[in-house]
This record gives sequence, structure tokens and C-alpha cells, in this order.
Amino acid sequence: MKSIAIYPGTFDPFTNGHLDIVKRAAAIFDKVVVAVLINGAKKPIFSVEERVSQLKECLKPFANVEVESFDGLLADYMTKRNINVAIRGLRAVSDLEYEFQIAHTNRMLKKDMETVFLMPSAKYTYLTSTIVREVYSHGGRIKDMLPENVERELIRVYGG
Ligand code: ADP
Repeated sequence: MKSIAIYPGTFDPFTNGHLDIVKRAAAIFDKVVVAVLINGAKKPIFSVEERVSQLKECLKPFANVEVESFDGLLADYMTKRNINVAIRGLRAVSDLEYEFQIAHTNRMLKKDMETVFLMPSAKYTYLTSTIVREVYSHGGRIKDMLPENVERELIRVYGG
């Protein structure tokens, strides 16, 4: 039987930290579904369609990675897709409390669900989508924070 995992997130925008986690997951599981949460961000900088298309482009080199979007509860979507493992990234202890709550809630909602935590490379432990948005909105340098195509799109839509 093939192992399959889902990596859910808002990914607004998808950062090099997210990419690092996808690479690690793709090396462990036969198939990884990266799932963009619809309605995750109140005022997104990129629409879900834009994010899905950016992710598809940047994850093209990974033959066992697919990109989708989903709405509602992750547990329900996983049941529908017949997936039992969810991947989450853990940057630091500060992420743990929030992730712990989500993982336990998900397990309550879906008994056969496991959450697997992966650590990114140390150089991405500071990186969040919020930090990127903040730095960019104040004209700061976002080089090396985003995959090339996402950075290009950000500059194309919002200016350099
Ligand atoms: P959410 O809104 O669901 O928290 P995010 O898009 O912010 O979604 O993040 C999705 C997942 O990726 C979360 O598990 C988050 O902890 C993880 N993550 C975010 N940034 C990084 C990073 N720099 N390194 C590793 N994991 C990360």
C-alpha cells in the first residue's frame, strides 16, 4: 500500500520554509498532497487560485507532490480523500502550543488521523508568511524568503 500524506496550510504566500517541509515530506511519503485552505486568510495577498497555480509551478520538479485546495474542516477533507496523515511544520517551541491544539482537535474529529511534525532547516525557523508580508509591505528585502516564482508574482502584482 502506498503511503500518502497531506500538507495543509494557508500558504499566503508560500515561503521557502514551506518548500523545505514539502521536500522533506516528499522524501518520506510515496505521495504528498499540498492543500491550500480556502477562506484561511481574511484578506489574502493572493487568491486561492493564484496560490494553487504558484505552488503547482514551484512544485513541478517533485513527481510525487500534488497541489489542491479544500474548504471546511481538514478532518472531513482527509476522510473524503482517504488520507490519514497530516504534515505540519514545527519551527520552534513557540509553534508547539498551537499545533498541539490543532493536532488533538483533529484526532478528536477523526480517530484514525495522525499528525506528523517535520522541522525545517535552521535557516528557515524565523520565516513566516506574516513576516514576509510585513517586510514586503514596508519595502524591505524579501530575497531568499520565497521561491523564485512566488517572489516574481508578488513583485508583478504589488510592485517592486
Ligand atoms: P496555517 O495558516 O494553517 O498555520 P501556514 O501556511 O502559516 O498555515 O503554515 C502551514 C504549515 O507550515 C504550519 O504547520 C506551519 O507551522 C508550517 N510552517 C510555516 N512556516 C514554516 C517554516 N518557515 N518552516 C517550517 N514550517 C513552517
